[in-house]
Amino acid sequence: MPSTESASVCEHSSVQQGSPLVDDFHRPVEYVRLAVTTACNLRCSYCMREEHTNHTATKGAELTRHEIMTIVKVLADHGVTKIRFTGGEPLLRTDIVDLVRDAKQQSGITTVGLTTNGLLLDRFLPELEDAGLDSINFSIDTLHRERYKIITRRDEYNRARTNLEMLLDSSTIVLKLNVVMMREINSDELCDFVDLTREHLLTVRFMELQPFDDHQIWRTGRFLGAEKIETLLKGAYKELQACSGRATQHFSYTLPGHKGMIAIIPAYTRNFCSQCNKIRITSTGKIISCLYEKEGLELRPLLHGNASHAAIAKLFSTAVSRKPENGRYVSKVSARTSMSEIGG
Ligand code: SAM
Ligand code: SF4
Repeated sequence: MPSTESASVCEHSSVQQGSPLVDDFHRPVEYVRLAVTTACNLRCSYCMREEHTNHTATKGAELTRHEIMTIVKVLADHGVTKIRFTGGEPLLRTDIVDLVRDAKQQSGITTVGLTTNGLLLDRFLPELEDAGLDSINFSIDTLHRERYKIITRRDEYNRARTNLEMLLDSSTIVLKLNVVMMREINSDELCDFVDLTREHLLTVRFMELQPFDDHQIWRTGRFLGAEKIETLLKGAYKELQACSGRATQHFSYTLPGHKGMIAIIPAYTRNFCSQCNKIRITSTGKIISCLYEKEGLELRPLLHGNASHAAIAKLFSTAVSRKPENGRYVSKVSARTSMSEIGG
């Protein structure tokens, strides 16, 4: 994979104003996941170490609100319509409501989402709604306090559950639950999660463990593949009806009488490269054009140098042109140490 390069390395000619970002395999980039911090108030065992330090916040290296909005504007001018703020834990950014509002007000951006562990949602929910937040992916892997403590290394289940209930009761925001399924850790809770879809208009998404964690716990026999999850689901619910979901929700289902939906995300066993329409940006301003790309292109020299929007667009074009046709084939999957670097 390419190594980190300074912003001065631009292999491509200038980008026409307003032209969409399209990679060399004709895939348009319409969706950007922006990590706004690497800090987190949990320590999920499949994501980060107990001793994870908040490097970016302590060194003041996180992108500022102004820098983030410059990025969003340039991207919107070049065809990006959807922004998701993630992390680390994005609600640890005290300006998260401003970021959502700014992004939502940016012409061209139609959808702004947030991926969060929800622990701080009670502080922000009304303001986030007011700012126009469209969707929340709420990560919660168990509905039991003791297990939550084991998985996240923090005794915060009650807070997470209370905030989830608040969201279910009051919000107009589209809600998805992210549930990483792990053998003999939470696989017996499948039906408890499905039960939530009976009364609530949410999508419960059972996700495969991915090999991006500090301790490589996916090597320890906890991995539960999508096909196995599907077998468990079909075994428990004979009346399960397949329906079409989003591209990454390869398996999507409804149940008669249930308001919500169920999805299985085969993030590891299936390869979605051919449909990939996204890039990621780290909290320090690195453009990651592919999940399997370890290094990226640095935006900061341009942002610090007050570069023109055309120069920033050119860097994005260069990054997009480096998207491999199939990321798996060109990279070692174990290259990345934590999803918290890139926001999942
Ligand atoms: N802190 C926020 C949260 O947990 O929702 C946002 C960042 S977190 C990195 C984003 C998503 O990545 C979460 O749903 C989390 O469960 C998922 N994730 C992190 N490490 C993972 C891994 N090794 N395999 C699968 N999913 C992972
Ligand atoms: Fe924090 Fe999210 Fe990683 Fe859990 S998955 S440690 S909540 S960043």
